[in-house]
Amino acid sequence: MITIQSLNKSYLDGDRRIDVITNLSLELDAGCSLAITGPSGSGKSTLLNILSGILAPDAGSIEIGVAESSVRLDQMTEKERTLFRRKHIGYVHQFFNLVPTLTVWENVALPVSLNRKFDKDTSAREMSLSLLSEFNLSHRAEAFPDVLSGGEQQRVAVARALIIEPLLVLADEPTGNLDRENSGAVADLLFGACQKFQTTLVVATHSDAVAERADQHLTLEAASPGFVQ
Ligand code: ADP
Ligand code: MG
Repeated sequence: MITIQSLNKSYLDGDRRIDVITNLSLELDAGCSLAITGPSGSGKSTLLNILSGILAPDAGSIEIGVAESSVRLDQMTEKERTLFRRKHIGYVHQFFNLVPTLTVWENVALPVSLNRKFDKDTSAREMSLSLLSEFNLSHRAEAFPDVLSGGEQQRVAVARALIIEPLLVLADEPTGNLDRENSGAVADLLFGACQKFQTTLVVATHSDAVAERADQHLTLEAASPGFVQ
């Protein structure tokens, strides 16, 4: 369960203050999905970055259920948020963000090696290969990302987000750079895998077809500029 209460976030741009998120509250049950829509600049990425702990909110609370307990993201230090993110959050970016010098299986395995959630005996390679097999990408395991199509790269990025068995997957316009067919395949994988593993999913998207698949919907409005007093 994720509970957001009275969340606020502004940016300062010279003597202008841009109120991106104003008094936002929402609840999302564990294992459910939320689609965030709204025009460019409405704060979708900002909200995902707050949920991932990359950005701190100006005000408001964010409570995330972990096992039988819960944590308050807004009360953590930056370092605590970083550790929480590595352990519990998977992120899928619009432009895939695979590491070009690592093979596909190494890219997928990367979050495991950054993470103390797994004991030393856990083979990151085996975990990666097993996930790639599930995603029908075994034949690409030893390839480098640049020889893959956009759709394949994004499927690898979804595998990379899921390998730590996260509580929460955040996807920022994951199909924004794909044609319709690949878009559908990536959405199938993302929604299907999250359902299978009971992972909570928050996806920012411009695609109605992607948004329609989510259990809940949040539409953000264009950010309003104000002036610093
Ligand atoms: P979206 O993902 O919906 O396109 P963003 O969250 O990226 O929206 O941006 C929301 C608003 O905040 C935009 O007006 C953007 O220009 C502004 N913004 C985003 N990041 C910063 C920043 N680091 N500094 C100043 N303004 C920012
Ligand atoms: Mg964005």
